[in-house]
Amino acid sequence: MKAIIDTISPNGNAIRFETPEEPLEELLKHLPALERKLEAAGYMANAERHYPKTPSGEPICPKHMEVMDAREKQGDHWFSHKVLGENGQPVMVDGKPVYCRGHAGKLSPGWSY
Ligand SMILES: [Zn+2]
Repeated sequence: MKAIIDTISPNGNAIRFETPEEPLEELLKHLPALERKLEAAGYMANAERHYPKTPSGEPICPKHMEVMDAREKQGDHWFSHKVLGENGQPVMVDGKPVYCRGHAGKLSPGWSY
């Protein structure tokens, strides 16, 4: 048996780790240490799979409660939304709207707003 761990790297990429085949008892012994190592290296559980969803299946940012749109660029795909300020207008930095991907990360600056 092997385990598959879907994560988001410190750079914001979706990274999948696979453990070698081993008996379940051994796997369960090794997993907590592996998870701690990944967490210490800045890898986060892939929250995308666990986002709350609208009835039509669109993911909702758990922090801002905004519906996120699917984006795609050069083979990468992700979900994001514009961060809105208290006045309901998009938060702008250097003349550009700030985007949040629904998790913390280098490519998700809006998460901290
Ligand atoms: Zn958000």
